[in-house]
Amino acid sequence: MFNANEIRNDFPILSREINGKPLVYFDNGATTQKPSSVIERIKKYYETENANVHRGVHKLSALATDEFEKARETVRKFLNAKNSSDIIFTKGTTESINLVASSLCKAGLLDDGDEIIVTEAEHHANIVPWQICGKKLKIKALPVDDGGNLQIEKLPELITGRTKLLAATHISNVLGVVNDIKPLIDKAKNAGLLTLIDGAQAVAHVSVDVQELDVDFYAFSGHKIFAPTGIGVLYGKREIMEKLPPYQGGGEMIDQVSFEETTFNELPYKFEAGTPNIAGALGLATALEYFTSSDINEINAYEDELTKFAIEKFSAIEGLTLLGKSENRVPVFSFAIEGVHHYDVGTLLDASGIAIRTGHHCAQPIMKHFGLTGTARASLAFYNTIEELEYFFDKLNHAIKILK
Ligand SMILES: *Cc1c(COP(=O)(O)O)cnc(C)c1O
Repeated sequence: MFNANEIRNDFPILSREINGKPLVYFDNGATTQKPSSVIERIKKYYETENANVHRGVHKLSALATDEFEKARETVRKFLNAKNSSDIIFTKGTTESINLVASSLCKAGLLDDGDEIIVTEAEHHANIVPWQICGKKLKIKALPVDDGGNLQIEKLPELITGRTKLLAATHISNVLGVVNDIKPLIDKAKNAGLLTLIDGAQAVAHVSVDVQELDVDFYAFSGHKIFAPTGIGVLYGKREIMEKLPPYQGGGEMIDQVSFEETTFNELPYKFEAGTPNIAGALGLATALEYFTSSDINEINAYEDELTKFAIEKFSAIEGLTLLGKSENRVPVFSFAIEGVHHYDVGTLLDASGIAIRTGHHCAQPIMKHFGLTGTARASLAFYNTIEELEYFFDKLNHAIKILK
């Protein structure tokens, strides 16, 4: 049976103090903490296995290559991708989306005047790459309703003869609502669009099966699922990835190089120029193995408990608006309080050892939708507890009293 207190013991940082108080880490939407197994895996690599991959004939290089490719296979299993060569290692979600945007534009699959559809609740990482990809694209946004639920039924109205791609977040980092991406992808595909899903907030909360979704691209970051920073994943369907030109040039991504011409390596190496984040990939594989060793249904049931408790407490606070009203949501809570600045709330909570995020959360369009410039956001992971929430609400209510 899932036991959050046992899980907590796996995360060394959770037992430290901040400002003389036990740390309550509610900023998992920004980055998650790392279990001992991940920290140990990275240490082991540097202490006993460090060498460059796909290069040397020597034993250590072969060992590092082997471990690196095993990590790719672990990611394949995690997403249920068809081939391990469908898995490209990147720096994170941001780089994954930039890769797709840049390569689609270079390939001419996106051209001046073409249209793409995103949702109103995108992270800037799924807006800006499309604006700087080298072609002048028109970006349309699929709206959300007042509860933050995506209005999927409005998709057909946005599609024209120039629409080429749908790029949508799986779970908004502001709203916490789980978008119903399967019917969304189906509708987009029926209209002949390419599909990309930003899974940065989703992978640590819901299970993902890219074959079942039949999505073309799925992106996520390691550091939001208990792995190190600087490593991420782009899943890309082979038929499309084969058509795309490389993102960056350099070592590893080539087949033959001369000053006249270069031919490119096969998938996935075509998209992995230069020495990759080897330790990061190994850490990511360990993190995925660690996370999937708990039953996702039990994690969901536990997180639903946390969510229910939090929503009840939030509702009892006068003048507080909680964004994201949906049956299907994860414990990511953005809130605004009348007459109180989110920055002041964050500062007072920090004095009590509570880490939350304040600001626009790299998602200014959705802030604008709700008429806000920023919110406070408490985002929980499976190692957070009801006791922590009780402490948080105690301190939050106290902070509001002081600030109002
Ligand atoms: C964090 C986040 C990103 C960006 O991830 P990076 O790790 O900074 O590249 C993109 N989209 C969403 C929804 C996120 O939460």
